[in-house]
Amino acid sequence: MLLPSPKPRYLPRKLPQHLDPITVVFALPPDDMEAYSNRFTKLFLWLVIVLGMAACVFSAIHLDVAQLDRRFLFLALITVLVGSRLYVRVPRTKGQITVSDTFIFLIILLFDGEAAILLATIEAFCTSLRVSRRKFHHMFNASVMALSYFITVWTVRLSCGSPAVLVQQSYSQKLILALSVMALAQYASNTVLIACALALRTGERFWHVWKHNFLYTSLTYFAGASAAGLVAKLIGSVGFLAFLAMTPIIAIVYFTYQTYLNSVETKLAQIEQAERHVEELSRHIAEQQRISQELQHSREHFRHAAFHDALTGLPNRALLLDHLRLAIETAKRHTDHVFAVLFIDLDRFKNINDSLGHGIGDHLLIALARRLEGCLRPSDTVSRLGGDEFAILLNGLDDARDAIGVAERIQAGLMQPFNLGGHEVYTTASIGITLSSTNYEQPEHVLRDADTAMYRAKEKGKARHELFDTVMHAHAVALLKLENDLRRAVERNEFQVYYQPLVALDTSRITGFEALLRWSHPERGFISPAEFIPLAEETGLIFEIGRWVLNQSCRQMQSWRQLVARPLKISVNLSSKQFSQPNLIDQIKQTLNESQLDPHCLQLEITESVVMENAEAAATMLTQLRALGVELSIDDFGTGYSSLSYLHRFPVSTLKIDRSFIGRMGAGDENAEIVRTIIRLANNLGMQVIAEGIETEAQLAQLRTLKCEYGQGYLFSRPVTAEQATALLIGHTQTDAAAATHLTEDALLDPDTVSTYVN
Ligand code: C2E
Ligand code: MG
Ligand code: MG
Repeated sequence: MLLPSPKPRYLPRKLPQHLDPITVVFALPPDDMEAYSNRFTKLFLWLVIVLGMAACVFSAIHLDVAQLDRRFLFLALITVLVGSRLYVRVPRTKGQITVSDTFIFLIILLFDGEAAILLATIEAFCTSLRVSRRKFHHMFNASVMALSYFITVWTVRLSCGSPAVLVQQSYSQKLILALSVMALAQYASNTVLIACALALRTGERFWHVWKHNFLYTSLTYFAGASAAGLVAKLIGSVGFLAFLAMTPIIAIVYFTYQTYLNSVETKLAQIEQAERHVEELSRHIAEQQRISQELQHSREHFRHAAFHDALTGLPNRALLLDHLRLAIETAKRHTDHVFAVLFIDLDRFKNINDSLGHGIGDHLLIALARRLEGCLRPSDTVSRLGGDEFAILLNGLDDARDAIGVAERIQAGLMQPFNLGGHEVYTTASIGITLSSTNYEQPEHVLRDADTAMYRAKEKGKARHELFDTVMHAHAVALLKLENDLRRAVERNEFQVYYQPLVALDTSRITGFEALLRWSHPERGFISPAEFIPLAEETGLIFEIGRWVLNQSCRQMQSWRQLVARPLKISVNLSSKQFSQPNLIDQIKQTLNESQLDPHCLQLEITESVVMENAEAAATMLTQLRALGVELSIDDFGTGYSSLSYLHRFPVSTLKIDRSFIGRMGAGDENAEIVRTIIRLANNLGMQVIAEGIETEAQLAQLRTLKCEYGQGYLFSRPVTAEQATALLIGHTQTDAAAATHLTEDALLDPDTVSTYVN
C-alpha cells in the first residue's frame, strides 16, 4: 500500500466547494430532489441500489468465512477507520483520492473477492454515515461500491482467474495483468456509475462529466492496484509484518504526494490568477479596440454627413460646389475641358407630398436619386441641393451638346412611373443647363445660372429643359436689380395703394373698393403688381408689403365710413404666401383693432388657385378668418380648378368672376354661358358675385340680364388714388342722394383722367 487509490466520494455539506461528484448528487436539500427526480434519475439510482444489494447478498452467500483470520480483521479495521479519512483533493476538480481502494484491492488479493466486496460496502456505508444523515445516501453510496467491486472481482476472475491464487503463484506476468484488469475494471465501473448519476442530475452530457471529473484519476487506480500487488507479494514472502513495515513508507509517499498536489494546486491557482489577468487585459484591449473603431466610424460618419444628403445619400451642395471648383480650375488650365451643370427641379412635387404624404414624397426623392445615378457615368456628380432640387455636374464632356442629351435621357427616364408603396407615381422635371463655356470664376455662379435656366423651363410650361444663355443672363440680372429695388422700395415708401370701386350693377352705387398696390419706381415709373408681387413673394418681402397694404386700406376705409353713412367694404388681396402665414390671424386682428374698422367692412380676396391647391388646409384657414368676422371672396374665379365639394365647405361670401370671361363675353357664346353658370352656382351656394373687368356698356347690359349683382371695371373707374376715390365716393353719394342710377353717367370721372396707371 504505497500509493493512495482514487475513490470519488461525498464530503460533508460544510465543504460544498470541495464536493466530489457523488456529493453533488446528494448534497442538495430534499426539496431539490424534485428538481432532478425525473424518472430516469430515480430509476437509475434505484437500479444501482437494487443491484448493489444483490451483489452484497450474493457475496455474503459465497463468502468463505473460514479464511477470514485476524489479519483480515486488522486490515478491515484500518480500511474502515483510516482508509477514507486519508484523502487528497485533486486540484481543479471536485474530486478527491482516498487510500481505501488500495486496502480493498489488497483484501481482494489476500482474502478473495467476496470479503472485499462486503468490506467495501461496509466502508462506504460507514463513511456515508459520517457525512450525511439521509438513509438514501447511505444506501446509494454503499450500493455503488458493492456493485463496482462486484463487477471488478468478477471481471478479474473471469479474465485472469482468482487474484488470491495468482498472488501465491510465482508467475508474476499474469499477476500484473490481473492487477491491471482489476484497476481498470474498478476505475471504469466506479466512475461510470457516478458519472451517470451526475449527468442525469445536471443534464450535462455523460462524456463531458466523466472526462472532466474522472479522466485524471485513472493513473491512481493503477498505482493503487500496483501498490496492493506489491504489498500482497511482500506479505506472501516476508509475512504480514511486511504490511506494518510498509506503513511508514506509505505515510511518507502519501504526505509527499499530498505536498506535491498542494504545490500543484498553488501553482494552478497562480496560473488561474495570471490567466484571469490576461483575460481581463485582453478584454480591456478588445474594449479599447472597439471604442477606437467606433470613434473611427463616427468620425467617418460625420465626415460623410457633412458632405452628403441624409435622405438620398447623394453628395450635398457643399460637396457639389467643391467638385465644381475643381472643374472650373481644370477648365481654366485646359481650354478643351468642358463641363456642364444640370439643375433639376421636380414639377408639382408639392402636390405629391400634400396628397400622398411626406413618406411617399421621401421615397420618390430616393427613387429619383437612384434613377438619376442610373442615367450618368461614374465620373459625374449627382447631388441633392434640398427639397426636390437636384444638380448634376457632367465633367469632361466631349461636346457641350452632350449635356442636352443627358437632360433628354433624364426626362425620358422619368416617363416611367415610380412604384412607391403601392402607388404608381408619375412625375416630370424641369431642367436648367449651363455650360463651362461661360467662363465661370465662382462655382456658385454656375449653380445660379443653371437655376435661372431651370426657372425659364418652368415658365415655358415645365417638363422640359432650357440652356442658359446671355438673354437669360440679362433677364436674371434685371430680376436681381428689381429685387434690390423692391427691397429699397419698402424703405423708401415707393408704394401707394390705389382703390378701384366695386359697384352694385342694378343701382350703379359704389358698394366698396378693391385695394390695389402700386409701385412708383424712381426710374421705371409705375410697375405692374403682376410683375413685382411674385418677386415679393419669392423674397419674402410680401409679408411686410402685405401688412402695409392691409393697414393702409383699413385705415382708409374707416375714414370713408365716417365720411359717408352707408355700408362700404374694402377688398384686400392676400397672396398665397400671406395666406399660409402662421400669424396672419393675429395680424388681421391687430390691424382691425388699430384702425377701429368693423370686421364686416373688410373683405379678403384669395385667388382660386391658392385656395384649391391645398383645399383641406385652406378650409381651416378660411374658417379661422371667417371667425374674425371678416368677409371672404374667391378672386379670379373660373381660372383654377375648383372642386364643388370643397367650394360649399368654404365660408366664402363672394365669387369674383375672372375678367378674362367678362372680356370675351359676347351674346350667346360659351364665355357668357360660363358667366351664367358661375352666377347660378353662386346663387345656389348663397354667395354674391362680382364680375371683374367690365369695360363696355354691352358687357354691363349683358351682366345685368344675367342678374349679376356686382361689378368692377374700367367702365366705372380705373384704380385711383385715395383722394380720387374719396371724390368719387362723395360725388357718387351726392348723386346717390339724387337717386342717380348710373355711375358712369352721373358721378364717375372719366377713367383715363382718374387713373395714372394703365394695365
Ligand atoms: P386682381 O386682384 O384680380 O385685381 C384686379 C386687376 O384687374 C387689377 O390689376 C385691376 O387694375 C385690373 N382691372 C380692373 N378692372 C379692369 C378692366 O376693366 N380691364 C382690365 N384690363 N383690367 C382691369 P392690377 O392692379 O394690375 O393687379 C393685378 C393683380 O395683382 C391683382 O389682381 C392682384 O392679384 C395683384 N395685386 C394687386 N394689388 C395687390 C396687393 O396689394 N396684394 C396682393 N397680394 N396682390 C395684389
Ligand atoms: Mg383681387
Ligand atoms: Mg381678380
